[in-house]
Amino acid sequence: MNRPAIDIRHFSHRYGRTDAVRGLDLQVSGGCIFGLAGQNGAGKTTTIRALLNLIQPTSGTLSVLGLDSVADARRVRERVGYVAESPEFYGWMTVDEILRFNATFYTSWDRDLAHSLVARLDLPPARRIAALSPGPQAKVGLVMALAHRPELLLLDDPTSGLDPIVRRQFMEEIIRTVQGEGGTVFFSSHLLQEMERVADEVAILHEGRLVLHSPLERLKAGFKKIRATYDDAVPRDLVVQGLVRREVHGRQLVLTVREFTDATAAEVRRSSPRAVEVLDLALEEIFVETLKAGRVETEDKEAPHA
Ligand code: ATP
Repeated sequence: MNRPAIDIRHFSHRYGRTDAVRGLDLQVSGGCIFGLAGQNGAGKTTTIRALLNLIQPTSGTLSVLGLDSVADARRVRERVGYVAESPEFYGWMTVDEILRFNATFYTSWDRDLAHSLVARLDLPPARRIAALSPGPQAKVGLVMALAHRPELLLLDDPTSGLDPIVRRQFMEEIIRTVQGEGGTVFFSSHLLQEMERVADEVAILHEGRLVLHSPLERLKAGFKKIRATYDDAVPRDLVVQGLVRREVHGRQLVLTVREFTDATAAEVRRSSPRAVEVLDLALEEIFVETLKAGRVETEDKEAPHA
C-alpha cells in the first residue's frame, strides 16, 4: 500500500446534540480514486470539511498528506483542491477574473493548466459567473480546485446537479489531471453508478459510522447472487458462508452472499439443483444489501419467478 494520503483516527464530530460522525477510522492510500457513499445525513460532508479544518473534530485526529488537519491547516490547503457541495462564487466576476483572483492564494498556481482546462471544459472566459448555468459554474469550481496542481482533490458530491454528459466530462477531467500525476481523489456521491465507473476503493458511511471499506474489485468479487433452480422443493436447510439474503421464488432459490468463493458455489451444487447461476451485483445493490446486513432476510414467495 502507498503511504496513506488520508489517515483518520477515531474521528467524531458533534453539532449540538447531533452525532454527525462517530469514531471514524479510515485510511486512503495515495494515488487512488476513493468514493465515499452514504445516505443523506450520513456524515460525508462533515468528514470532508474536517479534513480541511473547516470544522474541528470533537475527538480524534485527521491527517492529510502526512499533515495534521488542525495544526497544519494552512499547509493542507495549499496542497489540496476542494470542490464544495454548493460552491459559492463572486457572481459579478468573470471566469477569467475569478481564476486570476484565486491564483493569488497559491504559489503553485499553474496559469497554463488553468487556461487549458478552461478551453477543454468549453468555459467562456469573459462571461460573468452569475450568468452561467449550474454545469459551467461547477466546471469553474473544478478549474479553481485543479489549477494549483493539488496532490489530493476533495470533492463533496460535485456532480449531483449536473447532466450525465457534463458529469462524465467532469470526472474524466479530474482523473486525467490528478491521477495522471500520481495524485489522490476523494469524492462523496449519491450516484453509485458513476462511483462504480471511476472508483478504485469505496466506503459507506451510515449514521456517522463506517460500515464498509474495500477495493471495488474485491467487493464486487465477494458480493454475488446465486440462483439455483430445483426439480423438486427448494431445500430449507442450505447454509452458505456470508449469507445476507435468502429468497424463494417457487422452485428457485436466490441467495445473496458477500463472501463468494468457489466453495460457496460447490456448497450450493451439493444440494442437487438442476441449474446454478452466479450473478454480479451493481454497487447500488451492494450498498442496499450492506445497509440491511446484520440480519439475514428470508422471503418465501408464492409465485414462481423467471
Ligand atoms: P448529504 O448527503 O445530505 O449531504 P452528508 O452525508 O454529507 O449528507 P452531513 O452533512 O455530514 O451528512 O450531516 C451529518 C449529520 O449532521 C446530519 O444529521 C446533519 O443534519 C447534521 N448536520 C450537518 N451540518 C450541521 C450543522 N451545521 N448544524 C447542525 N447539524 C448539522
